[in-house]
Amino acid sequence: IERTLSIIKPDATRRNLTGKINAKFEEAGLRIVAQKRIHLTKDQAGKFYEVHKERPFYDELCSFMASEPVVAQVLEGERAIAKNREVMGATNPANAADGTIRKEFALSVGENSVHGSDAPETAAQEISFFFAGLEIV
Ligand code: ATP
Ligand code: MG
Repeated sequence: IERTLSIIKPDATRRNLTGKINAKFEEAGLRIVAQKRIHLTKDQAGKFYEVHKERPFYDELCSFMASEPVVAQVLEGERAIAKNREVMGATNPANAADGTIRKEFALSVGENSVHGSDAPETAAQEISFFFAGLEIV
């Protein structure tokens, strides 16, 4: 059993899509074992996305992630990291497969509705960025 960190991004919380996105996770067999709505500061968003610091879209990404509240969550299940990325779909919604969250809901490559960890090491690091162990049940 594996855990991954998911974020429902501001473009999706703004459009009241949290429930529809959570239904996709649950239908795929992912269990939401922790969840909270928080409004990140731009500094906090910058720290979370530090790996992308040199990318041209970094400043835009951090401003977007701090623009409105997000829903941070821990998803648990068999192959949770890979399964979550399947359910999310490709980063750019134009390339996302039918039935994926980004195909159905994303507005653009930047405002793409969800984040998901990409490997076991980053999942552990990203989960601890948002949650204490006792908050994950
Ligand atoms: P995430 O890490 O959010 O789950 P990802 O792993 O599919 O998405 P990354 O390459 O890690 O994609 O990029 C992180 C985020 O940066 C993307 O989800 C998107 O919001 C933003 N981003 C990526 N590429 C671009 C771009 N070309 N223009 C604007 N924003 C971008
Ligand atoms: Mg990524």
